[in-house]
Amino acid sequence: MIDSDFALAGFTSGKEGIWSRNEPSDPPTNDYTALSKKLEMPLSRFIRPYQAGGDKVEIVGSEHGGSGVIKDNDLRKVDGLITAEKGLVLSIIAADCVPVYLVDEKAEVIGLLHCGWRSAAGMLIHNAVERMKKLGAVPSDIQIIIGPHICADCYEVGEEVRDEYAKVFAPEELERVFQQREGRLYLNLTQAIRLKLTSEGISCKNICAASGCTCHDTTYYSYRRGDRGKQNLAYIIMKE
Ligand SMILES: [Zn+2]
Repeated sequence: MIDSDFALAGFTSGKEGIWSRNEPSDPPTNDYTALSKKLEMPLSRFIRPYQAGGDKVEIVGSEHGGSGVIKDNDLRKVDGLITAEKGLVLSIIAADCVPVYLVDEKAEVIGLLHCGWRSAAGMLIHNAVERMKKLGAVPSDIQIIIGPHICADCYEVGEEVRDEYAKVFAPEELERVFQQREGRLYLNLTQAIRLKLTSEGISCKNICAASGCTCHDTTYYSYRRGDRGKQNLAYIIMKE
C-alpha cells in the first residue's frame, strides 16, 4: 500500500483470517505473530482499537503499545487512530469496510481509519483530520490512500442507507455515491469517502484509491460473502 522512506502501510488477510481472538486475555493470533515477524516489529508496538463503526478517533502513543493484541485497552468504540510517534504499528480490522490511511509527511503525523457506511456519512473523517491538525498536520499536505473494501458493484444496500446519506450529502453528491441497477441500489463507498475528505480541505490529487474488492476477490475475507469472525488487517507505521 505504502513503502516510502517515511511510512510503511499494508493490507493482509493473513492465513487464518486475522482476527479470531475473542477475549482480552486470549493470546495473539498466529496471523498477528506472523505479521510481527514479517515487519520486524514486536507485538508490544502494535495497537488495535475495539471498533464500533462509529466516529471516535484517538491520538495514541507508546503507552498504548500492545493494546488489543497482547493486552486489553481503553480504546473502546474507537474507529480511528492517529499518532505522531515513529515505530508504532497502527492497525484496524475490516471485512468489507474501508481502511483509510492518512499521512502528513511534513508534520510527521499518520492515521488509520475503519470506515463503514455509517462512518462514511458521519463525523469519523472530520474527527480524524481535526486530531491530525492538533498534532500539527495541515489538510492540504495530507496524503490519503483508500484501501481495499467492498466495491460499488458488490455493495447492494437498502433505501434506509440512502435516506441516512440524504441528511448529509447534497442531491448531486448522492447521484455520484449511489447507483441504481435493475431496480437495486448500490453504494460507492470510495466516492462517499472522497467527498468527505475534500470537504475537510484535502486535495483531490492527494487521494488515491487502491484497487481490489474484499467481496468479489476471494483472497480477502468478506462479511457480505459470509465470513464471520475472520477479517483482514490494515496497518501503517511511521518509519524510525
Ligand atoms: Zn466487488
